[in-house]
Amino acid sequence: MKKILSVILALALMMTAVLAVADTSYTATVDSQIGGVGAVTVTVTLADDGSIAAVTVDECKDTPGICELPCEQLPAAMVAANSINVDTVAGATLTSNAILAGVKAALENGGVDTTALMEKKEIVVEKAADETLEADVVVIGAGGAGLAAAISAEQNGAKVIVVEKMPKVGGNTILAGGAVNAVEDRSEFAIKQNDSVYWHYWQTLNGGDWQGDPELVMTLVENAYDGIQWTKELGMEWLGEDAVFMVSGGLWPRAWKPAGMASAGFFETYGKYIDAHPETMNLMLNTKAEKILTDASGAACGIIATGETGNTITINAKSVVVATGGFAKNVALRQAYDSIWGILDEKVMSTNHEGATGDGVKMLQALNADFVQMGNIQLLPLGDPKTGSLSGNIEHGVDTRIFVNKSGLRYGNEAGRRDDMTRDLFAQEDAYMWIVMDSDTYPTGDEVNNFGETANQLVEAGRAVKADTLEELAEKMGVPAENLVATIAEYNRHCIGGDLENQPDEFGRTLFGPAIDNGPFYAGARVPTVHHTMGGVRIDTQCRVYNENGEIIENLYAAGEVTGGIHGSNRLGGNALADTIVFGRIAGESAALCK
Ligand code: FAD
Repeated sequence: MKKILSVILALALMMTAVLAVADTSYTATVDSQIGGVGAVTVTVTLADDGSIAAVTVDECKDTPGICELPCEQLPAAMVAANSINVDTVAGATLTSNAILAGVKAALENGGVDTTALMEKKEIVVEKAADETLEADVVVIGAGGAGLAAAISAEQNGAKVIVVEKMPKVGGNTILAGGAVNAVEDRSEFAIKQNDSVYWHYWQTLNGGDWQGDPELVMTLVENAYDGIQWTKELGMEWLGEDAVFMVSGGLWPRAWKPAGMASAGFFETYGKYIDAHPETMNLMLNTKAEKILTDASGAACGIIATGETGNTITINAKSVVVATGGFAKNVALRQAYDSIWGILDEKVMSTNHEGATGDGVKMLQALNADFVQMGNIQLLPLGDPKTGSLSGNIEHGVDTRIFVNKSGLRYGNEAGRRDDMTRDLFAQEDAYMWIVMDSDTYPTGDEVNNFGETANQLVEAGRAVKADTLEELAEKMGVPAENLVATIAEYNRHCIGGDLENQPDEFGRTLFGPAIDNGPFYAGARVPTVHHTMGGVRIDTQCRVYNENGEIIENLYAAGEVTGGIHGSNRLGGNALADTIVFGRIAGESAALCK
C-alpha cells in the first residue's frame, strides 16, 4: 500500500511539474515569410501574474547577418515592455514580425487572452547628449565599399570613424551571393579560361551598352584580382579555381566565391580588422548621416549625424567618404529616375536591404554633386515571388539552369544579359517562371544553393517543389506535363555532347551544362525584382566626386553603388562586389592621403 501511495505521489508531483511548465510556457512555429527557409520557433514563458517572464527564439533560419539582431533584441524588448507589441528591428522587419507573430500564436494556441499584452507600451529612451567627434576620415555606410574604404584609410595612416544608420553592418553586400569577377591577367588559369583583363574590360563596357566610363571600367577590371588578394591578406578565405563560375548575367566564368556563407566572410574579415584597431577605428551603428559639412572653400570637412537616441553627432574630419549604397528600396526615387522600365512602382519588389534608400544621393545633391546615368536601374528575373529576395533560388550557376513559363515552355536565353532576361520574363504570363534543376546539382537534396539553403529545406518550406519524374514535377508546378517533358527533351539535345554548330539553340544560348535527366527533379518559381541602381554620383579614378560644373569637390570621395558610370546600362553579375573592394580601397587611400 505504501509503495502504491508513493508511486501515486510521485506521479502526482510529475503531473504538477508538467502542468506547471505547460501552464506557463508556450511554444509555436510560424512561417517567417522571408528569404530564410521559412520557420521561426519561439517559446514564451508567463509569470504567475500573467506578465512576460521570458521569450526565447528556439530556431530562426533567416540569412546569417540578419537573423541575429531580432533574435537577440526582441525577446528582451518584450520582457522589458511586458508587451508583444514592440517595435521591429530595422533591417530585419520580416524576421521581427515572425518572432512577434510566433509569441502571439504561442500564447493564443495555449488559450491565453493576449489583449492586454498587445497594448503598445511607450518606452521612453533618454536622449543622449549631443557630441562632437574628431577623425581624419569619416566614412558614411558600413557596407562592402564603406568598410573597405575605412580599412584602407586606416592602413594609410588615418584615424577613421564609420557611421552606419542600421543596427548592423553589411548593407546589400552582406546579402550578396558572393560572386566576385576578377582575372589574374596572363595567369595559367586565365589562359585556360580564355579570359583576360582586356576581355573583362570589353565585356563590361559592351554589356553596359558602352555607357560605362572606360577609365573607371579599366580601374575596376585591372584591380579586381588584386582586391581579392587584399581581402586574403586581411584573413578572408576564398574557394579555389575549381569553384570559379559564371554568375547570372556575368557573361563569362570568372566569378570567385568566398569560402564561407556567401558574403558574410567580408564582414567577419573587416570586423576583425576593426576590432583589432580600436585606437584608430570607430564604428558607430544606429548613426544616420544627415548632412555633409563643407568649409568656406567648399571642401568637405565632416558630417552631421543623428545618433540612436535622436541626439546630434557632429564629426569633424579632414575628408569624407560616401558609401551609402543604392536606392532600389526607395520607390519614389527609383520611379523618378527610371529610364528603362517604366513600371517600378511598389508592386515590383526588390532584392535589396531596407536601408537602400538613396540617402547618399540626397546628401550629395545638397552639395551640387554631379550625377550620371541615374535612370539605369537593373532588374533581375530571379526574385522570390513573395518577397523579391534572391534567396530561395535553386540554381547554382548559369550552365545548369533552365527557365520555363507557366505553360512549361522555355522562352529565352538563360545565359543572356540581365536586362534581356528580365524583359523576356515580363513578356510571360504573370511575369512568372520556374527554374528547373535535377539531382546532378542536388544528389541528396541536402546540398546548399548559393544562399546556404538546402534543396530539401526549400521544398519543406514550400519554396520549391521536388518530384521523381518530370510529369509529377509538372503537376506540382501547375504546368502542362507534355510541354515540360518536351521542353526538357529539346533542351537536353543541346547539353554536353550536343551539336550546337549545326543545331543551334533557338534562343541563342551557347553555354550548356549536363542534361536535365537525373531525377528527382526540382523547380522553384521566380519573378522580376529590382536589384541594382547603376547610376550615381560622378567620380574619377581616385574616387573624387565631381560637382555639376565639372569641378572636383575637395576632400569628398565616394565608392560602391552610390556612384555611377561604371556599369553603364546593364551591370555584369559579379562586378558590383569587385566594385566595392576596388573603389572602396581607392576611396579610403585617397581620403587618408588628401591634403
Ligand atoms: P551597401 O553594401 O548597401 O552598403 C551601404 C551601407 O550604407 C548600408 O549598410 C546602409 O545602411 C548604409 N547607409 C545608407 N545611408 C546611410 C546614412 N544616411 N547614414 C549611415 N549609413 C547609411 N554583386 C556582385 O558582384 N556579386 C553578387 O553575388 C551579388 N549578389 C547580390 C545579391 C543581393 C541579394 C543583392 C541585394 C546584391 C547583390 N550584388 C552582388 C550587388 C552588390 O552586393 C551591391 O551592389 C554592393 O554590395 C553594394 O555595396 P555598397 O557598399 O555600395 O552598398
